[in-house]
Amino acid sequence: MTRKQQRIGDKLATQHHAAARRGFALKVFEEVDAVVDRELTMLSAKGRRSTCAKGCSHCCRQETYVPRAEAEAAVEWLQRAAPHLIADLEVRLRAWLTWYRSEYPGLVAGGIARRDAFSAHGPQCPALVDDACSIYPVRPVFCRTYHVSSPADACRPAADPAHLDVPVEVLAIAAKTTPIASTLRAFIQSQGSDFKGSVHLLAEWLIHLLEIEPEPWRTSPPPSWTR
Ligand code: SF4
Repeated sequence: MTRKQQRIGDKLATQHHAAARRGFALKVFEEVDAVVDRELTMLSAKGRRSTCAKGCSHCCRQETYVPRAEAEAAVEWLQRAAPHLIADLEVRLRAWLTWYRSEYPGLVAGGIARRDAFSAHGPQCPALVDDACSIYPVRPVFCRTYHVSSPADACRPAADPAHLDVPVEVLAIAAKTTPIASTLRAFIQSQGSDFKGSVHLLAEWLIHLLEIEPEPWRTSPPPSWTR
């Protein structure tokens, strides 16, 4: 099979199995939440309490990669349960894409690490509204498992005047949920799709799935895209 045939096959499999994939992602979210709750309780009993709370969003500038299935679950939820959020989200996604294409390449070319280009120089996650996650019920696994025990101000970018210069202590929760996240990988592969190839930045997936632009992972917009 040629690479082109493989790509077409993957695309058809992707569309055909979308509903099952979304359902599986929602199940994974639930199972991950149960493990996170259990781990937070256990760590708290040992004196390592999470300092994360609603209203604190410094970590929502990270380079957040998600498999297509997680983003599909988020978009399906938006379209079904929160369509009123979509228009404003699209505005923020377009602004994010402008930064991603105009400033991000220069930052990385200038020697700034990719993750630092996002966390210290990038816009906030387009899903963030008034320092709260607007897609909270369907936020990615990465966001569910990221908790710190250090003071919240330590998570601010270094250039922020309120930044506290102490190490960020990330609680070791993500590793505990890896076996659950791995079931999603196995499920997607059982559908005949390439899991690794389905991983992109959350914003890229939202832009693609909301049909703002078909290939936001390209460094320039496709010339034929006129929407
Ligand atoms: S999806 Fe929500 S929790 Fe995750 S980075 Fe974006 S705003 Fe923050």
